[in-house]
Amino acid sequence: MPIYEFDCQDCHSGFEKLVRGFSAIGSVTCPQCGGQQVQKRLSTFASHVAGGSFSLSAPAAACAPGGA
Ligand SMILES: [Zn+2]
Repeated sequence: MPIYEFDCQDCHSGFEKLVRGFSAIGSVTCPQCGGQQVQKRLSTFASHVAGGSFSLSAPAAACAPGGA
C-alpha cells in the first residue's frame, strides 16, 4: 500500500497519507487544518537512499519491495 508524505502549504505541517491510486493524490487534504494546499514529498525511500545515511543497522533488503 502506497503511503505518501505531504506538506501542507497552509499550516506547514507534514503528514503521511495512504493514497489509493495516483489520481487520489490531488484530493488529499491536510489533517491539521483541512486545507487542500498540500504538496507531495518525494518518497521517503528515495530520499533515504539519496541521503546516504546508511549507518542504520537495518539492511537494505528490509526496504526493498519483494526483497523478502
Ligand atoms: Zn494544514
